[in-house]
Amino acid sequence: MSWQGVLGHDAIVERFRTAVARGRLASTYLFIGPEGVGKRTFALKLAQALLCEGRPAGALDPCLACRGCRLTAAQTHPDLLQVRKPAERSFIPLEAFVGRAHERMQTGLCHDLSLKPFLSQRKVAIIDDADYLNEEGANALLKTLEEPPPRSVLILIGSQLQRQLPTIRSRAQLIRFSPLPVDTVERILLAEGLITDPQQAREAALRSSGSVTQACELADEALAAYRHTLLHALAQPAWDSVGLARNTAQFIEQAGKDQPPRRARARQLVNAALAFYSTLLRAQAQAPSAAPPEILAAAQAALRGGQTDVQATVERLESCLQALEHIDRNVIQANWLEVWFDSLARARSLR
Ligand SMILES: [Zn+2]
Repeated sequence: MSWQGVLGHDAIVERFRTAVARGRLASTYLFIGPEGVGKRTFALKLAQALLCEGRPAGALDPCLACRGCRLTAAQTHPDLLQVRKPAERSFIPLEAFVGRAHERMQTGLCHDLSLKPFLSQRKVAIIDDADYLNEEGANALLKTLEEPPPRSVLILIGSQLQRQLPTIRSRAQLIRFSPLPVDTVERILLAEGLITDPQQAREAALRSSGSVTQACELADEALAAYRHTLLHALAQPAWDSVGLARNTAQFIEQAGKDQPPRRARARQLVNAALAFYSTLLRAQAQAPSAAPPEILAAAQAALRGGQTDVQATVERLESCLQALEHIDRNVIQANWLEVWFDSLARARSLR
């Protein structure tokens, strides 16, 4: 089933349908789920429904024809507020919520949300990247969460519940998004022209863990080739960590001059290593694993090559997590890469 192009989240659609029909929408929602399953698409469709001027009262489907619908589709509706983490920052900056120091509460999301709607009957705010909300930002939001402006709806979007601050969790209604079914990923890839070859779309969908983002990454051939090189190296009993760091740096730099695509590529590689060590850990314990074939093969090769020390694998798993944290915090690439490969190499069994 599809709700006006939103695929794969029927139970959530029904939940909102009921809430709108009963006039019982919450003022704050927290959307949690893996990357690439359509949380943001869903939030925007919901915003369109709420800002629609042609929709019968109590119905959830936006008319798609009115001024409100068209402005929301273009993401230019004056009653639709959006905040996300700027690429060069580690957190959503405080001024996004309450304005800069010299104009506190004269701009920013909390201020804008408190104004009367300009065109619609209500205001909708979407905070993307809620994983990157720090204490300061959450505190700035507190008053808005506790005394929400009448008929306003605030939607926070994050990837993991553990990454959300208690301030937010306790005041928002949680909506969990699951990974998409394989067929749905395949349909979205083709429908949105993300992958045009049906066979390739099918294969990427099968290995995507239910994420459109991941499927697109899998279809990135340059990335697939380097990921293979990296996994092959990590599966060896010993490797040249300086050379591997240098080659990895070069590959990341090929993603472009800007930081966001470079960081995305870096994250993809560290995630592949993380999947590898997590699968290796299961293999060491002879536990079954549902990892993709490429990861599974690398883990088995590592085991055959003598990587049997569980403690070393745990240490390497932790250094992958630390590398992801460094990437998120915008640590200089040369620094985190060196630290990462160094700590991978220094873990017990390679000493
Ligand atoms: Zn409409």
